[in-house]
Formats: sequence, C-alpha cells, structure tokens
Amino acid sequence: MARERTISIIKPDGVEKNIIGEIYRRLEAAGLEIVAARMLHLTGEQAGKFYAVHRERPFYSDLVSYMTSGPVMVQILEGDDAIDKNRQIMGATDPAKADPGTIRADFASSIEENVVHGSDGPETARQEIAFFFSDDQICPRTR
Ligand code: ATP
Ligand code: MG
Repeated sequence: MARERTISIIKPDGVEKNIIGEIYRRLEAAGLEIVAARMLHLTGEQAGKFYAVHRERPFYSDLVSYMTSGPVMVQILEGDDAIDKNRQIMGATDPAKADPGTIRADFASSIEENVVHGSDGPETARQEIAFFFSDDQICPRTR
C-alpha cells in the first residue's frame, strides 16, 4: 500500500450541519492524518475552475452555486491508500446508493448536497493539492 496524499473538502452543507469534527473523527479513526487545513468561502471563479471537468454537465451551474453558498473546509489527508480510503469513508456520490455508515449515507441530503469531496485519483489529488495549498502550508508529521 502506497503512502498517499489526497484532498478532502467538507462542502457548505457539511459546514452548515456543524459536523466538521465528526468528519475529522471518522477520517482520523481510519488512520488518515491531516497535514494541512484551511477554511475558505469559494468564489464562483474558484468553484468553476475546481469542477471544470463537469463544465458540460447539466448540473454544473447548480454545482457552482452550491459550492459557493457558504464556507468550505479543505484538508490534505495523508496515509496508506489515502485516496481510496477517503472515498470509501465518504460513500457513493448519491447518498441513496452509499453504503451504510459512510458520511454521505449518514449526512447527505441529495446527490448534489452530498457533504464531502475527495480526490478521485493520484493525478487529480496532485492538481487539487496545488489548487488549495502552497508547499509551505503543508506540515508533514515529524512525530
Ligand atoms: P466529488 O467530486 O465532489 O468528490 P464525486 O466524485 O462523488 O464527488 P462527481 O461525479 O465528481 O462525484 O460529481 C461532483 C459533484 O457534482 C458531486 O459530488 C455532486 O455534488 C454534484 N453532482 C454529481 N452528479 C450530480 C447530479 N446528477 N445532479 C446534481 N449534482 C450532481
Ligand atoms: Mg469527483
């Protein structure tokens, strides 16, 4: 198992539900370590760029509105198999299809307002980390 870094975002509905701590608890219980974190309120330009891969999808403009509707909490998670591990803890995009006990099954209200984001592969993880953090904002564990 490779040691990896990935981006996790608690989306505006997750911040509104006041479950940042609960989500961190689940990630940490799975052995993932937070090595950087910041809260920000995305601009339309930032959200549009972040989800540019979905530009042609019918839900794109709603997705940008949703992601800019309130602050988000962004973190870099580090650990063995971090990319897939985070996606497993999140659950499927559609909460109705998410496995019981996943974040989306427990907290998401719809396929759009689904509480969390996670990078979907090594290349996306690299791009998303660079999107939100400079090297000097990342704090590798020293103990
Ligand atoms: P994310 O990229 O946010 O981690 P994901 O990888 O599970 O989620 P994607 O297919 O990349 O799912 O979709 C990005 C986001 O767009 C979803 O998390 C959701 O907020 C929104 N979305 C996806 N599909 C739909 C849809 N059919 N209708 C409305 N919103 C959608
Ligand atoms: Mg995705």
